[in-house]
Amino acid sequence: MLAVAQIEKAAEVLRNGGLVAIPTETVYGLAANAEDPQAVAKIFEVKGRPPTHPLIVHIGSADQLGEWVEEVPATAKLLAEAFWPGPLTLVLRRGRRVPLETTGGLETVAVRVPDHPAALALLAEFGGAVAAPSANRFGSVSPTTPDHVRTELGGDVDIVLDGGPCEVGVESTIVDVTGDVPTVLRPGGLTREDLEEVLGHPLAVPSATAVRVPGQHPTHYAPRAHVVLVETDQILTESELAHSAGRRVGVLLPPSLAGARVEAAAIVPVPDSQSAYARGLFKYLRELDEQGCDLIIASLPDERGLGLAIANRLRRAAGPRD
Ligand code: AMP
Ligand code: MG
Repeated sequence: MLAVAQIEKAAEVLRNGGLVAIPTETVYGLAANAEDPQAVAKIFEVKGRPPTHPLIVHIGSADQLGEWVEEVPATAKLLAEAFWPGPLTLVLRRGRRVPLETTGGLETVAVRVPDHPAALALLAEFGGAVAAPSANRFGSVSPTTPDHVRTELGGDVDIVLDGGPCEVGVESTIVDVTGDVPTVLRPGGLTREDLEEVLGHPLAVPSATAVRVPGQHPTHYAPRAHVVLVETDQILTESELAHSAGRRVGVLLPPSLAGARVEAAAIVPVPDSQSAYARGLFKYLRELDEQGCDLIIASLPDERGLGLAIANRLRRAAGPRD
């Protein structure tokens, strides 16, 4: 647990319009006072993120939701009570306290309550809400440890709160509850199955590469190395081929191939459990970059449960480059 003094100092940074890297259960966030357009502008500047890409507003508890949105529809109340604090973001009509800078100019706002003691302690001490996208440069791999943040953002952030490695490891599931039917805008750390159980009906999930909302580009979460997705039974031949062609190949080796002889510069065995894979995914991509790989070969997991979010991140890591 972080010292009280650290939390107080971080809250002071927020009050002064500065940037705090915060641990959450999903990934590390780059937080600023959500009500302060100038502080929010710094987030966009540091990330190199286009100003039309909306930010997620993080609040301290579900019962504060009404302060930040125009109205709380019954579905939003139901989902917030079931899953907050947790890896679920709800898109609602923007309340007056949220400036357009924070929502990328949209009349809707994305809100969630993070499930991490340090983030919750900071929000309680600060008293307001923070806008916090992932604490990485635009388009790159999200950070899941404080070291990832320091390496990537260094002196551009005023303070990094060390809350250890993130438990969930992939970003929140975003659900739009402004319309008649709730819609998943981005699969994430809360599974579709869990959502459907509480809602009592099936949910539509967008195709992995469709750009549904601003800030959802086909290529994202991308390491330096090019990521290529192949069928699991092609992994060994594809890596051997690329390896003998002189590429520096990194392989995300699925559990079904554990122990196989792989021709590659670096191999990361993928854990059997989906939650362990989600927790480690971004770290593995960073590690393969660090080992100098220029090509990462992987296959898609079963897309049930957390597999949906893992497959989404892998597809987008493998998306077209400029
Ligand atoms: P991140 O970059 O991890 O902070 O992710 C933020 C995501 O939330 C982006 O992909 C946005 O598209 C999405 N988002 C934020 N606000 C809204 C909104 N008002 N409507 C739809 N999506 C939103
Ligand atoms: Mg991000």
